[in-house]
Amino acid sequence: MRDFIKVTRDKMTAAVLYGKRDVRIEQIPIPRVARGEVLVRIKAALTCGTDLKVYRQGFHARMIVPPSVFGHEMAGLVEETGEGVDSFRPGMRVVSANSGPCNRCFFCERHLANLCEDLQFLNGAYAEYIKIPERIVRQNLLILPDNLSFREAALVEPLACVLRAIEETAIAEGDTVVVIGMGPIGLMFVRMLKQLGATVIAVGKREKQLVMGERMGADYVLDATHLNVVEQVRRITNGRRGADVVIEAVGTTETWQQAMGMVRRGGTINLFGGCPSGTHIPLDTTLIHYSEITIKASFHHTPRHIREALDILHRREIIGESFITGEERLPSLRNVLERLLDRNGDIKIAIVP
Ligand SMILES: [Zn+2]
Ligand SMILES: [Zn+2]
Repeated sequence: MRDFIKVTRDKMTAAVLYGKRDVRIEQIPIPRVARGEVLVRIKAALTCGTDLKVYRQGFHARMIVPPSVFGHEMAGLVEETGEGVDSFRPGMRVVSANSGPCNRCFFCERHLANLCEDLQFLNGAYAEYIKIPERIVRQNLLILPDNLSFREAALVEPLACVLRAIEETAIAEGDTVVVIGMGPIGLMFVRMLKQLGATVIAVGKREKQLVMGERMGADYVLDATHLNVVEQVRRITNGRRGADVVIEAVGTTETWQQAMGMVRRGGTINLFGGCPSGTHIPLDTTLIHYSEITIKASFHHTPRHIREALDILHRREIIGESFITGEERLPSLRNVLERLLDRNGDIKIAIVP
């Protein structure tokens, strides 16, 4: 008698990034799992501003050196588990974050896992399968509640970044907060800030995105294409004081500078959007000093925020579906990315293998 032999394919379809605007759909080996690792069959991946940036410039200084699989927001089914994995079984519905901290370095010890010196990144969501490394299995692979679809669950990563930024900026009920940028991240900020009881002034450029900002609950919506938005924020706030907090979620030097002009004395600016490397902005020293302005930034997430994000999606404090404006098959990825670069009003597109 012969033992039962599981017949499996050894190749899968995946998107491989080769350089600037060069992504190819290829057949590559299905990763094999080793001890502590989990193979996930991807059911949905979401496009993200970071992926667009990576696609446009052909690499990511910290995360992607081409040729490389890419995409980092995904959920799916456990296909196979490595030796020593007890918490997951084939068939389980899961979502994975795109990184895992070391838990040993200076920053991890100080609860700044997002700044971990040895943060292990995970890319390859635009594929049929992805191998989750042991460190991420242990800390950032979570089982989905039944009522949460795969594509909604894939929002945990960006949402976790937003939650951490809100927490770090110490925004309280009743604060007036400007959100510059109505992309997926900006819209998540609007939604979560309204949930917190803040008055929200949304600033964006594209008609469809401004309409979305309003739908997410923004109290004021300013179109930066024809308004002096700094002046408008001053007008809206009592005594032209400026906003308590300004969140910049675009990542251009122009909007970073706008943020400086919108905040009140003693207020805080969170520069959430990363600008191209090597760029600089001038600082008005008088403004910063005599107005006691706090300038901070938020990067990435921690395992705790990934859990909180999943909870919030599960409790439907934020409706995941409202951030997903379409669904496409993996082979159309290049067209989808090109369309998103044109900023046609889509928020996130779900990519299904
Ligand atoms: Zn992302
Ligand atoms: Zn660390």
